[in-house]
Amino acid sequence: MGNVKKSLKDIGSFMKLPGANMFMTKTEDLFNWANKSSLWPLSFGLACCAIEMMATFSSRYDLDRLGMITRASPRQADLMIVAGTVTVKMGERIKTLYDQMAGPKWVIAAGSCAISGDHYRHVYSVVPGVDWIIPVDVYVPGCPPTPEAFIDGILALQDIISKGKSAPTFNSVSCERKSIDEVKVKKKEILFDKELIDSNLIFEKCNEIKSLGYNYLNFITATDFDNSLVLTYMFSNNFENKKLEINVKLGPENRLDSISNIYPGAEWQEREVYDMFGVKFNNHPKLERILMPDDWIGHPLLKNYKMEQAKLPYRPSREDYESWKTKL
Ligand code: SF4
Repeated sequence: MGNVKKSLKDIGSFMKLPGANMFMTKTEDLFNWANKSSLWPLSFGLACCAIEMMATFSSRYDLDRLGMITRASPRQADLMIVAGTVTVKMGERIKTLYDQMAGPKWVIAAGSCAISGDHYRHVYSVVPGVDWIIPVDVYVPGCPPTPEAFIDGILALQDIISKGKSAPTFNSVSCERKSIDEVKVKKKEILFDKELIDSNLIFEKCNEIKSLGYNYLNFITATDFDNSLVLTYMFSNNFENKKLEINVKLGPENRLDSISNIYPGAEWQEREVYDMFGVKFNNHPKLERILMPDDWIGHPLLKNYKMEQAKLPYRPSREDYESWKTKL
């Protein structure tokens, strides 16, 4: 951040007069200097990135030295740091809070979720970047960004302000966005260094794992490799503080035995994998959707799931976002 203006000396000059000092500058530069030296961020956070933001505001990093004091009301804030995943539900509230802030005002999108939706980008309930809703001045990458990265973003914003920017701009929404179909997903052929287990043997394998003292099922999740799904199971042995992961390759039917008889906690985790990936679990006591409505079409975490399907009741259209913008 070598070109950040650091002090009054950068925007004018001091003259020594007999019995007094005089400082000469332009009012515009002075106001810009005052703005950048007294950013008051709105105090709110959305997800894990907000924890890093809180750490950034802690005494260790001491943002007070930059003139930054968080405010509990948008009426007194001139900086919004969007730290966390922006859900559609929260999107409208963010827009309202932004509108309630007095100008000039600035926005930092902190973390991959706020920038682009990150791993939730294609999920029905997540806004693929907060710049779909409000203008963004600085993007701070990371998942989550470190406090140092937050500070780097704040210094970048100070630099922008000291150059006189005070009007909101939609930085990236004016750019052409590729359609989801055009975006090439890098194929990971080899993700697992361990052997993949045959899906027909999952019940026996989990019985064996439990008999070895792995008494807790941490999670079940799936990865879509285009030509097949791979399920990942994580177990813990709480007596010996050990963990065990197994990976199961599914056949074309995407079907395997439920392990909820062995690990009761598998019941809702299998329902989630069914809901998001369409995997069927034999002998599951109640294999129904758990997150999506019962009549939802498709399974949102499959790669071939199309965002523009007819049945997307909770997600505003691009036109909705565009109409929000024109009301700025
Ligand atoms: S970018 Fe990573 S750390 Fe930040 S909100 Fe998203 S998932 Fe959490």
